[in-house]
Amino acid sequence: MSSTDIRNLSIQELAQYLQSIGEKPFRTRQIFEWIYQKGVESFDNMRNLSKDLRHSLEKEFTLRSHQVYKKEISKDGTTKFLFNLGGRQKIETVLIPTSTRTTVCVSTQAGCKFGCKFCASGLGGWVRDLSCAEIMGQILKIKQEAQRYKKPLSHIVFMGTGEPLDNFSNLMKAIRIINDQKGMNIGARRITVSTCGVIPKIRQFAREGLQIELAISLHGYDNGSRNVLMPVNKKYPFDELMATCREYIQQTKRQITFEYILIKDVTCSEKAIKCLKQAFKGIICKMNLISYNSVSEFDYKAPFYKEVLEFKNNLEENGIHATIRRPRGKDINGACGQLRHLQLRHCTTINSR
Ligand code: SF4
Repeated sequence: MSSTDIRNLSIQELAQYLQSIGEKPFRTRQIFEWIYQKGVESFDNMRNLSKDLRHSLEKEFTLRSHQVYKKEISKDGTTKFLFNLGGRQKIETVLIPTSTRTTVCVSTQAGCKFGCKFCASGLGGWVRDLSCAEIMGQILKIKQEAQRYKKPLSHIVFMGTGEPLDNFSNLMKAIRIINDQKGMNIGARRITVSTCGVIPKIRQFAREGLQIELAISLHGYDNGSRNVLMPVNKKYPFDELMATCREYIQQTKRQITFEYILIKDVTCSEKAIKCLKQAFKGIICKMNLISYNSVSEFDYKAPFYKEVLEFKNNLEENGIHATIRRPRGKDINGACGQLRHLQLRHCTTINSR
């Protein structure tokens, strides 16, 4: 019988297990510190535990670190990792160092079922949810890597492959470990969860009562434009999504960041400005403008920088605070899911030869 990875356990679950084998409560803190702060990858290295306890943990659990299958480093320092999950499954995780912060962009699912029409992650469809251990494994590996560059990990964004809120319970379990003082001890405001707009889950997320940042991948300016780019809009339409965002802000007293992709002749028109102005009436928010990062399967193009700037200024003149996100890792398949997708496509081509 295969045993579970210990990183699938919340702090309460680990405490319960330790109590069931007659161990003292403080052992929970020690084990969490070994895994999440000191980053050990074997029970044997947990040197302040008794031999018996280490043996029990070894028998009951696994603690396997992710194996790097591929690593690409951009000129700007952005580093993409493809981790092997066993079988043909791979996940993509990105380390993004800047002068002020070091961020890891984490995947929550192998593949994605939402199929946005500009995103490489949705191209191969959804395979499965990642477990809490698989989510934490990515962060721990990147934490190690960041130390190597002498840049401690400071921010975590759930914006990699998959829809985080579609894997809600594993996501929340991971967030609690990241946020816990005995776990990774990273403040809630340094953690961002992005969603394509799964309305019931946004409501559930609001009820969690955490100070986590929420980002909405909007990418369209009304129902029609969003329908074309994001199939999720057919189930959860634009107006309903905006109404849910208003509810969220009222309930949590927190701002939302809206992610907006700039695609030439599609999302950065004058009509878009008018519609966004209307949609954002009374909402204090930040809009992140992301110039489209080309994926060969789609015909879209990025606008010229002049158009990007013009769009941003127009938004600002219409009362919407906007920033242009600096493109990172363009020379290494920078768009979300591109590296994983290229690898899967490569394997499929080889297998069908
Ligand atoms: S943008 Fe997000 S939700 Fe849409 S296909 Fe890509 S990973 Fe999935």
